[in-house]
Amino acid sequence: MNKLLTGKTAMITGAGRGIGKQIALTFAQHGADLIVTDLKETESSIELMKEIENLGVKGLFLAYDVSKLDQTEAAVKQAMEAFGKIDVLVNNAGITRDTLLMRMTETDWDMVMNVNVKSIFNHTKAIQSIMLKQRFGSIINMGSIVGITGNAGQINYSASKAAIIGLSKSVARELGSRNIRCNVIAPGFIETEMTHVLPQEVKDAYMKTISLRRTGKPTDIANTAVFLASDLSDYMTGQVLVCDGGM
Ligand code: NAD
Repeated sequence: MNKLLTGKTAMITGAGRGIGKQIALTFAQHGADLIVTDLKETESSIELMKEIENLGVKGLFLAYDVSKLDQTEAAVKQAMEAFGKIDVLVNNAGITRDTLLMRMTETDWDMVMNVNVKSIFNHTKAIQSIMLKQRFGSIINMGSIVGITGNAGQINYSASKAAIIGLSKSVARELGSRNIRCNVIAPGFIETEMTHVLPQEVKDAYMKTISLRRTGKPTDIANTAVFLASDLSDYMTGQVLVCDGGM
């Protein structure tokens, strides 16, 4: 395999399972050293770190809450002590608290905005001086197709994913002159534990809207992330790459 990320160090949030875990594995297969983060260590994250080690690259697991700036700053400090650089940041951690507006609580709104959006502010703020000194960086933020289309029952989640687009385009403008790129991936329906819990009729309804007539797999998103992390995309910034099978 032609390795696209050899010599790069990547930090990936919420990577203990799902899409983030697959991004970590695929990055490791492409030769990247990895800082894997999640709320806590789990069987799944332990298994991931073993797989990373078996692939012959360096890995560090850090447990913290991405929505807290002080915890993020401490994690970035630890990552820098271990690796001395961070070339790629993947802001992947995210949650849903789906319900209709009439039932949505203030907590449902605040939690989703804090984990999905504030976390990206936290990480970009903590890492920007490192990337500025390096004069290199690729920041990849995980949006969603519903941040573009909207979705009933997800006003908090779609608002958070739309906010990520504005945030990312602004970061791209602010840091572009220092060779720091910032792009968004907007996945459609991807099979993970996040979507596993949806009722079958919701899944069936989604399926009818997908041109390719299959749900996405974490590898579909991981391959898009490899492209954005690698020098293959080095003239792209401020973009939203939709990866949804043609929804
Ligand atoms: P997932 O629930 O399987 O994984 C999310 C991970 O984020 C988990 O490991 C979780 O522990 C972690 N996380 C949650 N809150 C955290 C916090 N406060 N601090 C640190 N880590 C935290 O979800 P997934 O399907 O793998 O989704 C990954 C990303 O992709 C999310 O941003 C999600 O919104 C986005 N996305 C997913 C889909 C899909 O269909 N699965 C579609 C569009 C976008």
